[in-house]
This record gives sequence, C-alpha cells and structure tokens, in this order.
Amino acid sequence: MEASGFKCERCGAPLDVSPETIVAVCPYCGFPNHISGSISTENIFIAPSLGKEEVYRAFMHRVERDVDLRSLRDDIQVVEIEGRYVPYWEGRVYLKGEVKYMRRETECHTVTDSQGNTREECHTVERHYHEFIDRNLHLMGSARRQVTDFGINDIIKHYKKKFPELKPLKELDEDEWQRIKLEILNTEMDERQARMLMKEDAVDVVREEYKAKSDRIEYFRCMPGEPEDVKLVLLPVWTVYYRYGNSIFKVAFSGWDGKDVAATEPMTALRRAMYVGGIILGIVIGGIGAGAISSGAAIIPLVAGAGIAYYSGSKVLAGTRVER
Ligand SMILES: [Zn+2]
Repeated sequence: MEASGFKCERCGAPLDVSPETIVAVCPYCGFPNHISGSISTENIFIAPSLGKEEVYRAFMHRVERDVDLRSLRDDIQVVEIEGRYVPYWEGRVYLKGEVKYMRRETECHTVTDSQGNTREECHTVERHYHEFIDRNLHLMGSARRQVTDFGINDIIKHYKKKFPELKPLKELDEDEWQRIKLEILNTEMDERQARMLMKEDAVDVVREEYKAKSDRIEYFRCMPGEPEDVKLVLLPVWTVYYRYGNSIFKVAFSGWDGKDVAATEPMTALRRAMYVGGIILGIVIGGIGAGAISSGAAIIPLVAGAGIAYYSGSKVLAGTRVER
C-alpha cells in the first residue's frame, strides 16, 4: 500500500496517505508528517495511553463497582478491547461585544389599604438590560467530520475536568511511541477550518447563554478574536465490547486515566421487573381516572397514569440504559 509514494521524513517508512490526509503519523516511529492543508506539526500533542491490560482492569473494576453489573459478573464475557487516538482541535477565543435584551420578571410589593391592612401585590414587568461582553472561552471539538463515534464527545467533558499530561508528538522518541502506539483516526479538518469553526462556535455559545436567560434579544454584537493556543490533541479512547445474553454492550474509557466516560448496559431482571411493574401501575391509575371521569377531577390521575405508563414503557422498549 505504498502506491502513494509518501515516506516518513524521520525514518523513511512508507506512509498510508489518501487525498484527504492532512497529517500522516508514521506507524513505525510516531513522527507527524505534514501532507496537505494548513497545520503546524509542532502544535500536535499526544496524551500517552494506558495499555490494554490496564483498560481491562478498569472495566472489571467498573463491573465490581456497579450493583447491577456485579450480579451479572459471571455471565459477562469481554469480546474485544479496542484503543484509538482521536484527534481534537483545542484553543481559546477572546470575545468582545455588546448585548441588549429584555426579560420578564415578577415584581411584588406590599400595599396598604385605607383600613390599614397590608397585602402583597405581584405583576409581571419587562426589564431591559444592556451588558458588555468580555469573555475568554476554551473550546474543543473533534477534528473529524462525523462525530457519531461512541464516546468521542464524552471524552471532551472528561478532558476539561481531568487534564492529561500532553507531549509534543514531534519530540516523542521511537521507543516511547512503540510503548503507547495505537491506531490513529484521521484528522479531517486543517487548522484554518478549525480556527473558523472556533470563532463561529464561540459566538454561538455566548448567544445561546443570552437566549437562555432572556425573553427577547434586542441587540447583539459579538466579535471573536483570532483563536489562541490552537493545537491538535490526540486523545486515547478505548472501547470495551462485552457480551451479555444475546447482545453486545460497550463501555468507553479515557485512555490516559482509565475513567469510564460512556456506556450502554444490560438491564438486570430486577430492574426490568420494576419497569414492567411501572407499566401496570400506570394503567391502573389511568383506569381509576377514566372511571371517575364524571367527577370532573379525573384528568389528573388519567394524565399521571398515562405518563407513568409511557415512561416505563419507553424504558423497557429501549432495553438498555445509557449512562454518561
Ligand atoms: Zn517514521
């Protein structure tokens, strides 16, 4: 597969390059080779990964820790453990701007009548606010076009909480690379595109914040500066696939510290029984409501019953619980 003719700048090994390749990390020595698009290979960092055995132990530890899983322990069979480096663009964007918005608020005051009795009177008022934006946002996103891969976004949240030690990929020696190497998913976005997206995302983040706390935005101007400290970060993401019954489930782990970041898991028989119980309970409450409909107050139990039945039903249909 060396038809492309590209060779590693450092060790001369053949590289697997496609027309979309921006940077090709040499599978033999770990050197980042710039192929196309805008990217400075000095700004590519890697978080060294744990090994497969450590990830397996982290998985077993999770099984022991989880009450539901522990009871299934003997029927759980690990099928596959797969580790990959996923590329993310990271940077900071400084924003300046101005916003005017309106928010409806309840205003109460005490009124005293001619008899000297006091009471509280409340009404809704439209309050107008004028604020200046002066923010510095830390942004991070997948450097891949499809972000649907399991665990990829969950890793970002964990990264921001528990920052790994990062090493410049260019300075990693061959031995160290051999110890930590995994398959590397392609970077599909170059630095220019990443910078553009960061600026757009930064403005969106601020706009959404004001949307959430106002009833109407009357004026919005927000200028993002050029992103700073922009780097491409390769983060190790491990997925453990395991069989229980006739289904395969998976757990994603962050590769630098073995934290479980996302999982699909089987429901235990007990949990399933509780949900099924919920359906019956819902129907019964609904039935009482329907029977008492002439009383006029029936709508409450009817709606509540339907709600419980719907909630429980959807859980059983799903068959798995998803934890993040
Ligand atoms: Zn090489």
